[in-house]
Amino acid sequence: MNSDNRKNAIVIGAGIAGIAASIRLQLKGYQVLCIENNSYPGGKLSEIKKEGFRFDAGPSLFTMPQYVDELFLLANKNPRDYFNYLALEKTCVYFYEDGTKLTAYADKEKFMNEMQEKLNVSKNALQYFLQKSKTIYEITYHVFLERSLHRLKTFLRWPTIQSIFRLAQIDSMRSMNTANEAILKSDKAVQFFNRYATYNGSNPYKAPATLNVIHHLEYEFGAWLPKYGMYHITDSLVKLAESLGVKFQYQTKVERIIHDQRNVQAVECTHQNKNEIHNADLVISNMDVYHTYKKLLSDIEAPESILNQTKSSSALIFYWGINKTYDELDVHNIFFSKDYKHEFDCIDAGKITNDPTVYINITSKKIKSDAPDNAENWFVMINVPNNQDQNWDELIATSRENIIDKLSRLLKTDIAPLIVCEEILDPRSIESKTSSHRGALYGNSSNNQFAAFLRHSNKSSKLKGLYFCGGSVHPGGGIPLALLSAKICTDFIEHVE
Ligand SMILES: Cc1cc2nc3c(=O)[nH]c(=O)nc-3n(C[C@H](O)[C@H](O)[C@H](O)COP(=O)(O)OP(=O)(O)OC[C@H]3O[C@@H](n4cnc5c(N)ncnc54)[C@H](O)[C@@H]3O)c2cc1C
Repeated sequence: MNSDNRKNAIVIGAGIAGIAASIRLQLKGYQVLCIENNSYPGGKLSEIKKEGFRFDAGPSLFTMPQYVDELFLLANKNPRDYFNYLALEKTCVYFYEDGTKLTAYADKEKFMNEMQEKLNVSKNALQYFLQKSKTIYEITYHVFLERSLHRLKTFLRWPTIQSIFRLAQIDSMRSMNTANEAILKSDKAVQFFNRYATYNGSNPYKAPATLNVIHHLEYEFGAWLPKYGMYHITDSLVKLAESLGVKFQYQTKVERIIHDQRNVQAVECTHQNKNEIHNADLVISNMDVYHTYKKLLSDIEAPESILNQTKSSSALIFYWGINKTYDELDVHNIFFSKDYKHEFDCIDAGKITNDPTVYINITSKKIKSDAPDNAENWFVMINVPNNQDQNWDELIATSRENIIDKLSRLLKTDIAPLIVCEEILDPRSIESKTSSHRGALYGNSSNNQFAAFLRHSNKSSKLKGLYFCGGSVHPGGGIPLALLSAKICTDFIEHVE
């Protein structure tokens, strides 16, 4: 209890899930202190400002905005007073090595026409494929992703029982690539839809076809851009949290969760080289669950089989200020590799192909203040293996050259001299900046059909008062699921007022 007779809750980490959990707990009557190691909130969802350019540092694609709005509504606030976003008419522009250019329109009819015309995929096959993904969504999403899988209550609900009877329809017994080839019969369309496996750091040649649910979220609910860029999500949620009374303490590292045999009691931190103890009636860790056990709870037995699951892939990002504008580019752009299978084989082997698929995000297409006049803010990303102590300096130098060659070829201009400023993020810096094990973007990989059941629970089975949220635990990584993890973990906690 604190001086207001309110129970104290500590949230470790002000990543997007930690902020969401803080809001939910404060609304449940706790006094929440959210302790963050960095000097800024957001974790992966942060921003970089350099030489007149603004870049979103991590996530760039925003789907399911309703999960952000929900937090404002829970607090009886109008989301639009804090947070605004616009719908993208073009979800993404795709460039293939043979010169094919495809625009993925949000409008379904336009999208189907474009797919038929450019990728030679029949409308019937596409319609069947999209319907199948919708079915997977209906069977899995509300039942398995919006609820804890570690609670009997979840399995006793009628919708769960109905879903269990329909499990054969979620296509979990074959890989995404096998299913996509069988249905679409167009190599380029297969590559197009296989790419969605990377949305949670998986390999489409291994991950179950159940992951086709991911593109459904984008095509059914849309792709969005927050008014001031992705960081607007973090910023507006921190403002909401503070307005509710959540306290944030930055530049403070939690070193240990203090507990007795059964209950959490406090956290021990370092702040400005001094030790601090904060008492807590309950603790939610938004730190990667691997490091929560290894660093903060080294005195209890860790669930090794869950912690040692294969981790998702990571990313190498070049933030480039580009001294030119390109009409052929949009907010989201993909330059596909020629041999997609080889690209993932390399990632699995801990390497990077010489012809990686390159993703470019340019928020200045819509947010003019993100770049100076006649310039663009390019967030240039490739998927790479997670950190296994590779020679990253060498891999980064080679990849930088390969990316510049590829983009210069496909955009028909030498882009090297157009780069006026640069920042780089790689698996090592992702790990050191956010404490994500091996710099994996999404915790465990989803490369097998049991992956959803092999993520850590949102509640500790060992210590009363200890909970987990964030991309490394159930239901997984990516902003929508990280936000859901905050809901699921706080659903375990009773209101205290
Ligand atoms: C380059 C990149 C691109 C991505 N693209 C997308 C995308 O387009 N769309 C999408 O939906 N998702 C994307 N993601 C994934 C998404 O960013 C994450 O799933 C999500 O932000 C995870 O949030 P989180 O709260 O779980 O964790 P994090 O953001 O990792 O936050 C954890 C926080 O805890 C803090 N912390 C850790 N340990 C301690 C400690 N001991 N004491 C105090 N604080 C601590 C860290 O400093 C950090 O701030 C991307 C991620 C990256 C890195």
